[in-house]
Amino acid sequence: TNQTQIGLMSHEELLSEHERQTASYAQLKTEKLTLDLTRGKPSPEQLDLSAALLALPGDGDFRDGNGTDTRNYGGLTGLPELRAIFGELLGIPVENLLAGNNASLEIMHDNVVFALLHGTPDSPRPWSQEEKVKFLCPAPGYDRHFGITETYGIEMIPVPMRPDGPDVGVIAELVANDPQIKGLWAVPNYSNPTGAVYSEEVTRALASMPAAAPDFRLFWDNAYAVHPLVGETAPSLDILGMAAEAGHPNRPLVFASTSKITFAGAGVSFFGSSTANLAWYQKFLGKKSIGPDKLNQLRHLRFFGDADGVRAHMEKHREILAPKFALVLKILEDRLGASKVASWTEPKGGYFISLDVVEGTAKRVIALAKDAGIALTAAGSAFPYGIDPEDKNIRLAPSFPSMEDLDKSMNGVATCVLLAATESRLDLPKS
Ligand code: PMP
Repeated sequence: TNQTQIGLMSHEELLSEHERQTASYAQLKTEKLTLDLTRGKPSPEQLDLSAALLALPGDGDFRDGNGTDTRNYGGLTGLPELRAIFGELLGIPVENLLAGNNASLEIMHDNVVFALLHGTPDSPRPWSQEEKVKFLCPAPGYDRHFGITETYGIEMIPVPMRPDGPDVGVIAELVANDPQIKGLWAVPNYSNPTGAVYSEEVTRALASMPAAAPDFRLFWDNAYAVHPLVGETAPSLDILGMAAEAGHPNRPLVFASTSKITFAGAGVSFFGSSTANLAWYQKFLGKKSIGPDKLNQLRHLRFFGDADGVRAHMEKHREILAPKFALVLKILEDRLGASKVASWTEPKGGYFISLDVVEGTAKRVIALAKDAGIALTAAGSAFPYGIDPEDKNIRLAPSFPSMEDLDKSMNGVATCVLLAATESRLDLPKS
């Protein structure tokens, strides 16, 4: 391993460093790896933590605490007891929280589509009848958020992301002056992919800032509310209360799910908002469904029991995930720390590490890794329209691979980062 800053090397030193890295890369390719660091999926061991769900609610158990027969139609709001548990965890009153089907992404998508087709309770007209609709997109951010707005022709404006949330100075200025800006994508806790936790100051600013559009919305995706990697969990701030206090009760739309708590494909989603927004949403939801899968909700209720049951369950996830994140961080530090060719986040929760390599080399690193059998998330995927203006960001997802595979793939990635960095410093044509 190299122990000098690549940026401080003489031309001669760089040439021999390049030779060394080319040889390591050739060696890496002989290993014929097939490894994948792309998507933030729970590992099989994590899914096994919820194995009991497969036998719940069990023979003869199908009524909730109110006596509702969960096998039948109806109950658009979801089971009150399960909503109470997640209301406690998310800091949302039970009457302001709905429980839905297996994907919070679907609820986000529906909110965008309903607003386009019908307008929100505060819209002068449907968003689709506006000349143009724009969303602010803190970046790097979650590619599937950007996928929804891109699909519907909503213009996406990137906003710089900081360790305590997006740059509220930039946001407040834009939102105050441009009535075409109707929304902002946000992952407030352990953000995808940087792990940022929005501070109380940032959160309050977003809840209270003046907006030119009367129907400006915060798409507040609290997907990682109960997903710490350390002993302490960041609190879920009362975004609904803060916005109401500032005179904007309908501004926040809060989303969450158990996708990374129980089963990623068969969990329960949640939607929290003002009474007016929930009534508006259910008016259209009621046209597409007679009610959610209440049996799955009952299964989850039996499995958790109460909010402490969720917290205890998340502790087991942490025991599996924390060593994986520690391993990735150790390899990054050991292999790339001294040469100063990369920087990375050290998240206290969530599912990702965001790696920044030498500007202009992320695509090259990802291509080199691919040729060595290591799949990395496509370059630019954490940015609106898939465009990373500096070509430097790579999202790492440590959850799914085994420790052994993580070790191999991260060492491989480090080799690719070093090779691409020396190529770039030498201004070599990339073979
Ligand atoms: N939001 C964020 C920020 C995510 O990272 C993910 C999963 N990768 C989701 C939403 C998807 O949630 P769901 O499974 O509830 O649709």
